[in-house]
Amino acid sequence: MSAPNKSYDPVEVEALKPEEIERVRDEALAAFAAADSLDALQEAKVAHTGGTSPLSLANREIGALPPQAKAAAGKLVGQARAAVGRGLAARQEELEAERDARVLVEEAVDVTLPYDRTPAGARHPLTTMMERVADVFVSMGYEIAEGPEVEAEWFNFDALNFTPDHPARQMQDTFFVAGPEGRAKTVGDESGVVLRTHTSPVQARSLLDREPPVYVVCPGRVYRTDELDATHTPVFHQIELLAVDEGLTMADLKGTLDHMVQALFGDGMKTRLRPNYFPFTEPSAEMDMVCYVCRGESVGNPDRPCRTCGSEGWIELGGCGMVNPRVLTACGVDPEKYSGFAFGFGIERMLMFRHNVEDMRDMVEGDVRFTRPFGMEI
Ligand SMILES: [Zn+2]
Repeated sequence: MSAPNKSYDPVEVEALKPEEIERVRDEALAAFAAADSLDALQEAKVAHTGGTSPLSLANREIGALPPQAKAAAGKLVGQARAAVGRGLAARQEELEAERDARVLVEEAVDVTLPYDRTPAGARHPLTTMMERVADVFVSMGYEIAEGPEVEAEWFNFDALNFTPDHPARQMQDTFFVAGPEGRAKTVGDESGVVLRTHTSPVQARSLLDREPPVYVVCPGRVYRTDELDATHTPVFHQIELLAVDEGLTMADLKGTLDHMVQALFGDGMKTRLRPNYFPFTEPSAEMDMVCYVCRGESVGNPDRPCRTCGSEGWIELGGCGMVNPRVLTACGVDPEKYSGFAFGFGIERMLMFRHNVEDMRDMVEGDVRFTRPFGMEI
């Protein structure tokens, strides 16, 4: 066995001595093990694997070695760096797992804790229903018209062709704000003051305000002296439609009604008219719409009874007719030139059968358990 050739001995380089390599390797591994956080590990990583770390410096020394010494030194340093790299990765993994476990505990959300139970408000279904109906007509070019709820008796009755002795004017039907004895003083003419009993006075006001053609829809609150029960309330809502133009006929009225029920209840809905009498329309009719549940199929069909329409196939919606020429005259419109149609119905009633509300009192008592299922509607 020949003695090593001293001129090629790589161990002369201090940084590449095996014990020195082992020492810096162990130092690095100890530093990683001692790091108790990812930040500390990052510092240790820079110190022990960075460009100025002992192992990196040793690695650089290899380049200066004689060729026959490079392999052994390279292997030595390479193994040490690999061990350091594995140690770093292992510690990194441990610390990340610890951090993840800690985050899961510290940032856990207790879904069983009570939350802030102040609910978001919503508009009353009567309001949204009324706007929904009005929107049908606004989309057809109608204009929204409003009038006062405290109304001159003249607008509420006289202009609409109610005779002075008409039963609707009696105290048992109408809330009088100023009775016969107060009439002259309050309005300045022979008219009393009432809480309006229908939205029809807005028809008269609209005709006086505008030049024909007039196309208005009048939603609003009205009053009658009814006791509050399941099907009556002294304060309720109506929506009224008025169209006055040249050449309008019952056919226009019928087409408008059909369009409305289709817009509100779906395709295939239709209406029918039954003769009736109202002072402010002539001819007048009750309007029915085909039952939106059975679509008339329950009629004469005992196997498929319909609770909604009582197996009659039709549901009464409201009143309508051609505007009485006397009303046009009273409002300064020439009935020889213009004709018009009008109809009106109760919003409460429509809400009742559109949403199966059985008791009208639910609509006025303010219990949110009633309104909440209608949801948030803007
Ligand atoms: Zn039915």
